[in-house]
Amino acid sequence: MLVGVPKEIKNHEYRVGLTPDSVREVVAHGHEVVVETNAGVGIGASDADYEAAGASILPTAAEVFAKAEMIVKVKEPQAVERKMLRPDHLLFTYLHLAPDPEQTADLVASGAVCIAYETVTDQKGRLPLLAPMSQVAGRLSIQAGATALQKANGGAGVLLGGVPGVAPAKTVVIGGGVVGAHAIEMAIGLGSDVTVLDRNVDVLDALSARFGSRLKTVFSNRAALEKEVLAADLVVGAVLVAGAAAPKLVTKEHIKAMKPGSVVVDVAIDQGGCFETSRATTHQDPTYIVDEVVHYCVANMPGAVARTSTYALNNATLPYVLALADKGYAAALRDIPGFMPGLNVYKGQVTVAEVAENLGYTY
Ligand code: NAD
Repeated sequence: MLVGVPKEIKNHEYRVGLTPDSVREVVAHGHEVVVETNAGVGIGASDADYEAAGASILPTAAEVFAKAEMIVKVKEPQAVERKMLRPDHLLFTYLHLAPDPEQTADLVASGAVCIAYETVTDQKGRLPLLAPMSQVAGRLSIQAGATALQKANGGAGVLLGGVPGVAPAKTVVIGGGVVGAHAIEMAIGLGSDVTVLDRNVDVLDALSARFGSRLKTVFSNRAALEKEVLAADLVVGAVLVAGAAAPKLVTKEHIKAMKPGSVVVDVAIDQGGCFETSRATTHQDPTYIVDEVVHYCVANMPGAVARTSTYALNNATLPYVLALADKGYAAALRDIPGFMPGLNVYKGQVTVAEVAENLGYTY
């Protein structure tokens, strides 16, 4: 199969669909890969690196789209890219169609087969192509929080791990899923005093087994949440209710009552956020202050570490890319458990019930 990798064009997107190492694997499977010039600059991969891996470099996205049978990307295709899609194209990327009627209409009109990373499941119903970005965001949340706690950034001037003779800062993680577990790992690694709240006892059980006495686990209810948040120096919001907006667990009143200079990192901001005072921010201007509490609410946290994020994403996507190229989409979707839910648009038909219902397509 002829696989195409265009340069990402969404604002401040530095990731790329395939790394040179992934290209080498695809080529080793007997396929041809075309890459748009400079597609990898954001992750430190040059055209020469891609050529050494066996790809051909093309000067424009238009030429990549014209030549390729399968397009591998990171972000949803932008309007100009959607115009280049043909009925014989296979598109494999993040799509997030539910809130995006224009994109959905264009993908339907294109006649292409469009598979979305975010709806692929595994045998346990988890989301294996979303998990790497949650891992990145969870780990980054502690770096961001520790930086915001510094005096010059509006924080209380507290070092997360303290030093011998001075107690460490208290980190509270709300939601102990993928983001939460990775935040906990980093916070413990930095020597912070860490507590996690979750409303799922199995999650608390697993975290307790993993981190032992270095982590305090607390069943989440209103009273417990209030007590922990008011005592915290750093609160990481990492809850997810599948298919729904994040619940506003920390209220305006809680924020007012928190210690001055404490920090909240709302990782769940991409689902609306779990702090009542949260509003989405950008990497250019990541924080703002409400009632002396520093808020970090960047909606695309993995973009800050595009290189790590791209390699982590490729580790998860490559087996699917290879299966699509080797067998074609029909056999790949049929044979890999959980791959079929990834199919979002099939030759002019929306194939995800929620998207079809939300946007008024027949399903
Ligand atoms: P996950 O499903 O693995 O974990 C969510 C956890 O929240 C679960 O353990 C669940 O039991 C818990 N939870 C749900 N409601 C709760 C409540 N009321 N109180 C306490 N715990 C509760 O999800 P995840 O992959 O860890 O993602 C967490 C959030 O981070 C999601 O909103 C996701 O969209 C977001 N995210 C954001 C970024 C970013 O760049 N900002 C990147 C990746 C993920």
